[in-house]
Amino acid sequence: MTDPVPQLLEDILGGHRLTVEEGTMLMSVRDRRVWDIASTADQVREKVTGNLVTYVRNQNVNVTNICINTCGFCGFSKKPGDPGTFLFGPEEIREKAALARKRNVTEICTVSGLHPDFDASSYTEIIHTLHKEAPGIHIHASNPMEIAYGARKSGITTGELLVEMKEAGLGSLCGTAAEILVDEIRKVICPGKISTREWEKIIREAHLLGIPTTATIMYGHCESVADRVRHFEILRNIQDDTHGFTEFVPLSFVHMNTRLFREGIARSGATGREDVLMVALARLFLDNIPHIQVSWVKTGVKMAQLGLLAGADDIGGTMFEESISKGAGASNTDYLDPAEMKVLADDLGRELRQRTTLYAFV
Ligand code: SF4
Repeated sequence: MTDPVPQLLEDILGGHRLTVEEGTMLMSVRDRRVWDIASTADQVREKVTGNLVTYVRNQNVNVTNICINTCGFCGFSKKPGDPGTFLFGPEEIREKAALARKRNVTEICTVSGLHPDFDASSYTEIIHTLHKEAPGIHIHASNPMEIAYGARKSGITTGELLVEMKEAGLGSLCGTAAEILVDEIRKVICPGKISTREWEKIIREAHLLGIPTTATIMYGHCESVADRVRHFEILRNIQDDTHGFTEFVPLSFVHMNTRLFREGIARSGATGREDVLMVALARLFLDNIPHIQVSWVKTGVKMAQLGLLAGADDIGGTMFEESISKGAGASNTDYLDPAEMKVLADDLGRELRQRTTLYAFV
């Protein structure tokens, strides 16, 4: 039988839009054709974003690690009374924002556990406090799970909470809590989380309200290749309608300190081949999302650089004060110096440029 891959790659360069079946076939490739797929994705990247590698100067503010949920992949959350819990009050949030200003960041990213006492006003107050202390710094906050939780606790709609958050200073919403947008998998890895349908509903609401979001996937646990591409299809359909996604960020599963791995439900994360193909297929399948980010926090810096040769154009954030991946067992997640990013970009013959959250140049 003739190998369908070369023709398909040629067709993509000619403007063909991948189907789920074709995407699944490409993402299942296990031999040297992986490099052909990566090379095609790199050509598309060059056409869309040119010769740049971009990054954002950002800092995390995780307000609490206390969470009512028990997602099996999470090594960050703790139950009330556990050792090592924290909950920042307004004073500590202000201190973090002041630190962000001193560090000259352009983005504060804030996502937290679902604290049992939180409601809608907790989320708006966090944003308000950050915004007041650090006006001019873009607040990239919360995700559809937090929106659903806060709205439910306060008896308002998710749309109403989004409006309140926007008024308080929300610049964009995190597209996390997506994990894998296939309910059979969600029931296994995060049974307490919102459904695929609700995630999509809240993301669409945000986009309609003029709140951009990122898009993410968490892969390398117990999902199939077809599940990953089904996830892509949901994102691509949303983007066709709303154009509200700023970027796509594939998050490789960090397994070490997770219940899913301990119980033998998940494997020990994605392989290098899978990491490369994930980035490449993201670039090829998500033809309407301009920016594909590599997550050095999840894959390590060397693998992230390979992603930049396989379709990605963005190396993410400096990540002052990262704690979520660290909780799951990842190392060296605290901060990546732009000087180190420049070494990686220079090594590929590309130019490193600082950007804002919404991809304007700084
Ligand atoms: S992933 Fe989020 S919602 Fe799930 S347990 Fe961790 S902090 Fe809680």
